[in-house]
Amino acid sequence: MRTIDTLGDLRGKRVLVRSDFNVPLKDGVITDDGRIKAALPTLTRLVEAGAKVVILAHLGRPKGEVKPEFSLAPVAKRLGELIDAPVTLASDVVGDSAQAVVASLGEGEIALLENVRYDARENSKDDAARAELAAEYAKLADVFVSDGFGVVHRKQASVYDVAKLLPSAAGELVVKEIESLRRATDNPERPYGVVLGGSKVSDKLGVIKNLLEKADFLLIGGGMAYTFLAAQGYSVGTSLLEKDQIDTVKGYIETAAAKGVDLVLPVDTVVALEFKADAPASVVDADAIPDDQMGLDIGPKTAKLFADKIASAKTVAWNGPMGVFEMEAFAAGTKAVAQALSESSCFSVIGGGDSAAAVRQLGFDESTFSHISTGGGASLELLEGKTLPGIAVLED
Ligand code: ADP
Ligand code: MG
Repeated sequence: MRTIDTLGDLRGKRVLVRSDFNVPLKDGVITDDGRIKAALPTLTRLVEAGAKVVILAHLGRPKGEVKPEFSLAPVAKRLGELIDAPVTLASDVVGDSAQAVVASLGEGEIALLENVRYDARENSKDDAARAELAAEYAKLADVFVSDGFGVVHRKQASVYDVAKLLPSAAGELVVKEIESLRRATDNPERPYGVVLGGSKVSDKLGVIKNLLEKADFLLIGGGMAYTFLAAQGYSVGTSLLEKDQIDTVKGYIETAAAKGVDLVLPVDTVVALEFKADAPASVVDADAIPDDQMGLDIGPKTAKLFADKIASAKTVAWNGPMGVFEMEAFAAGTKAVAQALSESSCFSVIGGGDSAAAVRQLGFDESTFSHISTGGGASLELLEGKTLPGIAVLED
């Protein structure tokens, strides 16, 4: 993958940067600026190199229309505060305002163009439409830096097509994400463990399939665990169950046995009558889930079992919460896994939007993990072993 170093001296050059600024907003206020912070290493480096920095980013899904509630104005303001320099926001994507703002940029100055998804061509399925918009982006710059990790799995004009038109390279965030996720999936230092959870097994089939080939152990928690328990012949009450996946899951259990992968399922589980924060909860063994109850977290014996396994590993990839961590009564399993990972000196990578949110919400110090991915879909696709278009284009 080409890095910024390959772009040569950037002083006075117009550098187009794709960042991921798709932050959560409530009443126009940013509620989590993590993605903006994650973009700072690249932006700071470019500013210090004397580049004229032109940023492309999206926010939400305005579906090709200019809708003020999807304006990047709050992002421009927050970015300016974080980087401690003015950030000029163009009022359009590639129109008169964008062109004028870029033309007036001095060395080390920053402009942000409006939400690229205001332009329907940005994520058009029509290659020609995307290429046309990409050519307009390319006219605004001399080189391109791809740093929006959260979108590198998308074949979109500001991610993929523009990279083909300008000298292009991966930014600091993308380099760190790719290095970390590859280190935790390809040739990991062993013992290598994978912890999987989250709501549905059907969302993670590709991940299980790919990592089952590589891991020394696989710990299964979260909603998906109940389909595994059902595949073992247990009744799971009213827990999340994907009946149509039972045969597939049986196949995984067989593959694990054949390959000598230690596949660990919950031995106990926290159950409740209802999916509610204040529903009275109790702990039962995994083979004794009452018919009228649902499993909403792994139980304490399982949490201890998982924590001990994690402590024995040199590399751990984790995707998917162990329970409904959003409700305090069902957060203990996720907390135990996060705790074990943060105490371990292993190389630890957390991928998946909700998993990353969970460790933050539960108050863990992010620096105690080797890497927390900023990209949900993109990190999942890397764990699946897929080639991502926005990365491949920086490699050939
Ligand atoms: P990620 O975004 O990290 O890939 P997912 O989107 O697959 O994770 O799953 C996250 C969701 O799974 C969380 O909202 C959590 O509440 C839910 N979940 C975890 N365990 C259970 C369970 N036992 N029953 C229902 N939902 C669960
Ligand atoms: Mg999710």
